[in-house]
Amino acid sequence: MNNLTTIKAVLEDATCRLDASSDSARLDAELLLARTIDMPRSYLFAHPEEPLDETTVSRFREALDRRLAGEPMAYISGTREFWSLELMVTPATLVPRPETELLVDLALREIPRRAEWRILDLGTGSGAIAIAIAKERPLSSVTATDVSAEALEVARENARQLDVPNVEFIAGDWTGPVCGRTFNMIVSNPPYVRSDDAALDALHCEPRSALCAGADGLDAIRILARDCGALLEPGGALLIEHGAEQRESVAAVLREHGWSDVACHADYAGLPRITVARRD
Ligand code: SAM
Ligand code: GLN
Repeated sequence: MNNLTTIKAVLEDATCRLDASSDSARLDAELLLARTIDMPRSYLFAHPEEPLDETTVSRFREALDRRLAGEPMAYISGTREFWSLELMVTPATLVPRPETELLVDLALREIPRRAEWRILDLGTGSGAIAIAIAKERPLSSVTATDVSAEALEVARENARQLDVPNVEFIAGDWTGPVCGRTFNMIVSNPPYVRSDDAALDALHCEPRSALCAGADGLDAIRILARDCGALLEPGGALLIEHGAEQRESVAAVLREHGWSDVACHADYAGLPRITVARRD
């Protein structure tokens, strides 16, 4: 690539190389180059013939190599947009997924704008769900936990940068850090991938502890079904994200632990991905 020195040529070459491993090859190449030259993407379209110096080309190639090795764009750029918020992400945090926005949407439909609700987000990662809810409902107090102290550092920094004061972060194992407290609602996108799922190969850069939950992917959900009831006000809802093929098993686990009104919601692709259950 050293002798490909214009924006257009570099982009064409990179798109070609990315084609085999990314279904958004051209976009990835543009985003990586825009970031390398610290310009908006539109600059690339306006200046296709602009020459690039050796240093720029070699910095771009470093980023391209990371992408070719399967690293998510979000880790290379260090950010991911979620609920229109620019969140910092690191390899200690899962990259927030668009379908998780449905969980936020369903939660917001229930949280009154003018009430001071206490909301708990278990396994907060980058803080995506907790921060989005706290931002949309400034009168509420959101508590977010994670077993990873490193992830919580990122989440805290995200809340600080986005100027969201009504969220607190506590390290610990699931409900352990909030034992004895009560909430009006609990939300969680826990790990739910089966430990032998072939899809994990493509997710090798993200923390296993954020993705995997035992042989059937339900280990974390079983813990939440068992322990969350004691933390909810009567009538309070538990909202859990899960895999598309887990609808029945999640409902069964919840009913086994005495939850009522168990209902599953489809994501934007029409797949059953969020289950809501209620404490009597
Ligand atoms: N809520 C974030 C999101 O939606 O982008 C992250 C979700 S990620 C699928 C699951 C999170 O659960 C990870 O951040 C992981 O560290 C956390 N986790 C795993 N085991 C845990 C445990 N025993 N207690 C608390 N959190 C845990
Ligand atoms: N939705 C993630 C995936 O891409 C899994 C996240 C999780 O386990 N909560 O498979």
